[in-house]
Order: sequence, then structure tokens, then C-alpha cells
Amino acid sequence: MGGIHATMCLDEVIDRVDSVVTGEAEGIWAQVLEDVRQGRLQRRYEGGLACIEEMRPARHNLLPPRYAFGAIQTTRGCPLNCSFCSVTLFNGASYRQRPVADVVREFQLIPQKRVLLVDDNLVGTRSDHNGSGQGSVSRHGCGEPGQAVDWPGHHQFCRRRGVAHIGCPVRV
Ligand code: SF4
Repeated sequence: MGGIHATMCLDEVIDRVDSVVTGEAEGIWAQVLEDVRQGRLQRRYEGGLACIEEMRPARHNLLPPRYAFGAIQTTRGCPLNCSFCSVTLFNGASYRQRPVADVVREFQLIPQKRVLLVDDNLVGTRSDHNGSGQGSVSRHGCGEPGQAVDWPGHHQFCRRRGVAHIGCPVRV
């Protein structure tokens, strides 16, 4: 078991399953699978915060083809720590961004024409949310012509990263 509930309520779940992965799983998942293969699964793995700068693109081709929307995550974490929200505790208090080139490449792997940005916080906070100084990519670096993201966050994503929106095909 893993995810937010298992991480926040470890005592509640640890005796009900064979193994628990707390935190973000990417950094520890290969070891979990290897331990399963070797028959030495441990009771507990701590994933901590994944290094999203090195995160591989999601395998969109493994998903069933009939989803109406694709999905992509470009950032994680949030410094605001709202009392009702798990993000700061689970995904960290710093705003972590994937490299622009990786995001663009993953966008191009998504077969759907409509794509949801499933980031934790796309609304923004202060200077750490605006203008990362990473420079511009191409005019349509935010997605292939014809792809569309029906979410205002897309434009915030592009603004933060200096992507020009002249002729952008994205509808909000
Ligand atoms: S992700 Fe949103 S709700 Fe959660 S702490 Fe940040 S601003 Fe608050």
C-alpha cells in the first residue's frame, strides 16, 4: 500500500498489508519490485521526495485508449501549507518543477487532444511561482498543435516558464 493515507496514517495501515511505501514512490519503486522478485519484501519503504528533475515521462501508451483526457504533472509541492491540505506534508514545502524539455516531450507522448495539468498548485503564490527564469521554448512548446488543455493553469504554466502564447492552440 502507498499514497497519502498510508503515509499520514502509517500506524493504521501497517498491520493490514504486507508492505507500505510512504512518501513519493518513484525513488524507491525499483527497489520494491526487486525485493518482490527476490522474495524479500520489507514491511516498510520510505520514498521521501522524489527527484522530479530526473523523473521519466509517464508511460501513457500503457493506459486504456478510451480516456477522454490525458494528464500530466509538471510540478509538485506547495509552500502554503493550508490546514485542510496534504500537499505540503506529502509533496514538500518547496515548489519543485520538472525541466521544461521533459514536460514538452511528455506532452507530445499524450495521445488525447485534451490534457489536464494535475499539479498540486497551479494558482500560484509569490515570486517562487512566477518566472522561474528558465527561458522560452518554442511557440507551441506547450503542446503539439491541435492539443488543448481546458484549464487556466496551462497558461500559468507557460507564463512561469516563459513560453510565448502567440497562436497557442490551448483553449481556456
Ligand atoms: S496545494 Fe493548494 S490547498 Fe494545498 S497547501 Fe497549496 S495552496 Fe493550499
